[in-house]
Amino acid sequence: MKIAVFPGDGIGPEVTQAALKVLDALDLPDLTLFEGDVGAAAYRRHGLPLPSETLEIAKSADAVLFGAVGDPECDTLTRDLRPEQAILGLRRELGLFANLRPAAGWPGLEDLSPLKPQLARGIDLLVVRELTGDVYFGAKGERTTKGGEREGWDSMAYRESEVRRIAHTAFRAAERRRGKVTSVDKANVLETSRVWREIVSEVAAEYRGIALEHMYVDNAAMQMVRSPGQFDVVLTGNLFGDILSDQASACVGSIGLLPSASLGERSTQYGTFGMFEPIHGSAPDIVGQNRANPMAAILSLAMLLRHSLGRAAEAARIERAVGAVLGNGIRGADLGGDAGTDQITDAVLQEMRQIA
Ligand code: NAD
Repeated sequence: MKIAVFPGDGIGPEVTQAALKVLDALDLPDLTLFEGDVGAAAYRRHGLPLPSETLEIAKSADAVLFGAVGDPECDTLTRDLRPEQAILGLRRELGLFANLRPAAGWPGLEDLSPLKPQLARGIDLLVVRELTGDVYFGAKGERTTKGGEREGWDSMAYRESEVRRIAHTAFRAAERRRGKVTSVDKANVLETSRVWREIVSEVAAEYRGIALEHMYVDNAAMQMVRSPGQFDVVLTGNLFGDILSDQASACVGSIGLLPSASLGERSTQYGTFGMFEPIHGSAPDIVGQNRANPMAAILSLAMLLRHSLGRAAEAARIERAVGAVLGNGIRGADLGGDAGTDQITDAVLQEMRQIA
């Protein structure tokens, strides 16, 4: 098993280090780690945010564990040299078309949610967002109308094969969860969505045990705050998914708890190749202060073990340990507590020993 480890910038190396301690504690056989530079760290060393050496490491691995990128000192660089380009480049070069973002309310943390506690308690959903198509990647430009006005334009399109493969990802995920897929679109207005809906329904026919519902995106945004507990897997395109996945994260409350996966089409010996990372950024305001909550990175490792290395039992053990630590009231600054990165990591390791 080969894991590419890209810690990146800011608190990225701190939280990745914590995740690696957890990985080490699992004592997995035949595991090799390969470290690579990304983001501002890579720019300083190699002149590029995503050097070709890093890309080669990723391509030869079963999975990528990614920290975070971003550095205020790089804000004045041209777009192609900015640290964030590393993520976009990896997505593109590795064909990472499916973004999975679980959002679940942890018992005892309901007060952190902007929703009423009884609503926050019921959140346990997974947003499956298509990542490489839609209006973000269509033709775009600026033109002048006949009347002499400036006009910006972007074209939205989804090919059948693109919809099919992301729909399969969502239905397979639902098989491992509560067996429901909500496909979100705007089929009452958009042709792209009408075709999306048609294809998702066709794919659904291959998954007998899974319930499929279609929901317009405006209604979905409303339902997610009115009654988030109704959602299991939310399947959607790139644009709507960008917005809804952030909304779902906000409903849970803290950025330091939320992991994510971006899966590709390549199968590994043990599962599906993917890149796994916390949803938070490099948090330059707290870097080097032992204040970063490493839980999102540790939970990203759990996703990596489950999806790319076929190690569901180990993933569940990590998730249970994180839940136990939160249940014991050990909380980072982002959760209103004062536990530091090291203390949280040690507490997770201790719980893992007990679960073992
Ligand atoms: P951010 O997520 O880095 O930080 C937002 C706020 O949350 C900050 O106050 C930060 O201290 C806090 N925070 C974030 N993660 C935390 C953690 N694990 N524990 C405790 N507190 C935490 O977002 P930002 O400030 O908007 O962006 C900072 C930099 O990160 C920018 O350069 C941005 O482009 C980049 N960024 C990168 C990614 C990524 O690598 N995937 C994602 C978002 C932003």
